[in-house]
Amino acid sequence: MIDLGALVRELAGTPLAEWASELQEQLDSKMAVGHGDLQRWQGALHALPDLQPTSIDLAGGVTLRAPCTADTQEQLRQALMGLSPWRKGPFELFGVPVDTEWRSDWKWARVAPHLDLRGKRVLDVGCGNGYYQWRMLGAGARAVIGIDPNWLFFCQFQALRRYLPDLPAWHLPFALEELPEKLQGFDTVFSMGVLYHRRSPIDHLLALKDCLVKDGQLVLETLVVEGDVNCVLVPPDRYAQMRNVWFLPSVAALELWLQRAGLVDVRCVDVSVTSVEEQRSTDWMRYQSLPDFLDPGDHSRTLEGLPAPMRAVMVARKP
Ligand code: SAH
Repeated sequence: MIDLGALVRELAGTPLAEWASELQEQLDSKMAVGHGDLQRWQGALHALPDLQPTSIDLAGGVTLRAPCTADTQEQLRQALMGLSPWRKGPFELFGVPVDTEWRSDWKWARVAPHLDLRGKRVLDVGCGNGYYQWRMLGAGARAVIGIDPNWLFFCQFQALRRYLPDLPAWHLPFALEELPEKLQGFDTVFSMGVLYHRRSPIDHLLALKDCLVKDGQLVLETLVVEGDVNCVLVPPDRYAQMRNVWFLPSVAALELWLQRAGLVDVRCVDVSVTSVEEQRSTDWMRYQSLPDFLDPGDHSRTLEGLPAPMRAVMVARKP
């Protein structure tokens, strides 16, 4: 069982208190149904060695240190490997480098300079294994709740949480659609790498806005294409081999979507082409990755002949 008592205490007296009071029951009943692999992953979590970090760095990366024998490091490495594939990271845990598919630290370096998270209560929608949640704490956030319906990523978060049990970060295995409407309680809401998976992107933006307090900030990161305000790519089938990609707007079209969803002060703070150094197969994620999804003769195109992945970071305010 995962005890959400500290989360309930953290949210007491906030607009999120009522929601928080129901979360333990929701989480327990969801875990009781679980997922076919949940027991195996929980076995990997149980195999994690007892270690207590003597130093924690969440500002420059996610790095925990403590004196640790080679045997204990090997036990840690094997337990963490039992939670493969590791997509978002990297993590450096007691001398064991978890070299994930994505250099999420590169994305964070593009996003973080544009934000002030100090003292903020944050929601990270589609948080994956929670990599960014730790970095948000490193940037001064007061509390960070991540939601993501993927059970493996939930278990990977618990592996980190095992060594950082007292930090104000929580991962809930819920989709955004499972949150109550109009929570209106977070100072900052992130949605990174989620919008293009949604069939109704404007509804996603409206749901994100509903999670924010007045004057709260939305941080949105998604795939975009070149073009004017009337340009949106809908892949006819797969996109970079992904089956669930729906809308890739131009930056100008995305700005318009955000405005139509009722957000103001909409700004694009970064546009970057994803490189094959940023997303690639590693020992911790042995399946195919971006280098296999691009046209081998022309890396500006996907295998399907569409523009290669380019991502924008938008910030906006709820009036
Ligand atoms: N935010 C991370 C992960 C992006 S991958 C990053 O930027 O690197 C997209 C994630 O969104 C996946 O982990 C997926 O499980 C999650 N996701 C998909 N649909 C979702 C929904 N409706 N609500 C919340 N999370 C969702």
